[in-house]
Amino acid sequence: MKIICIGRNYANHAKEMKSDIPTEPVFFMKPDTALLKEGDFYLPDFSKEMHHEIELVIKICKSGKHIAEQFAHKYYEEIGLGIDFTARDLQAQCKAQGLPWEKAKAFDNSAPIGMFVNKNELNLKNIEFELKINGVSKQLGHSSDVIFSFDKIIAYVSQFVTLKMGDLIYTGTPEGVGPVKIGDKLEGFMNGKSMLHLNIR
Ligand code: MG
Repeated sequence: MKIICIGRNYANHAKEMKSDIPTEPVFFMKPDTALLKEGDFYLPDFSKEMHHEIELVIKICKSGKHIAEQFAHKYYEEIGLGIDFTARDLQAQCKAQGLPWEKAKAFDNSAPIGMFVNKNELNLKNIEFELKINGVSKQLGHSSDVIFSFDKIIAYVSQFVTLKMGDLIYTGTPEGVGPVKIGDKLEGFMNGKSMLHLNIR
């Protein structure tokens, strides 16, 4: 399986990163070794600035390429919550040098994933999600604020990359990203329901 991540899909996050609002989806990938299904997250030695990015995650349920937007909804049944961990210091260096971001984004365990729910239980245009650290709210997002919808993302990405069953798409983070430190307890919520737990070690 592969992990596809959408960058700058929330205008206020693009602003806090001092980035332009994209006119078409920005995507990058993480390998399957990035997935962290259970267990703690150990801060790697190579970064001094590990940022949390809470994101809604689409689980692809069948293979497809060149998927038309109006049929994209047939390619996913479940929505979950994940974290796109970002070594912000390394990413800033890569950006400044015009280099790819992989070492800042695609490292081992950089994609914790929580529970999924069937999309029929949700109004996809009205999902609220939140990250709390040590009980304090840090990021509060709303699916109505996305620049590119789930269906638009699938249509766009599948022009370039064949989607396969089990692939995950991290659909972008709202504003409020920031650093984590050893001892932090992260908890993710979707529509008020606790969906993800992670301890930083
Ligand atoms: Mg992200």
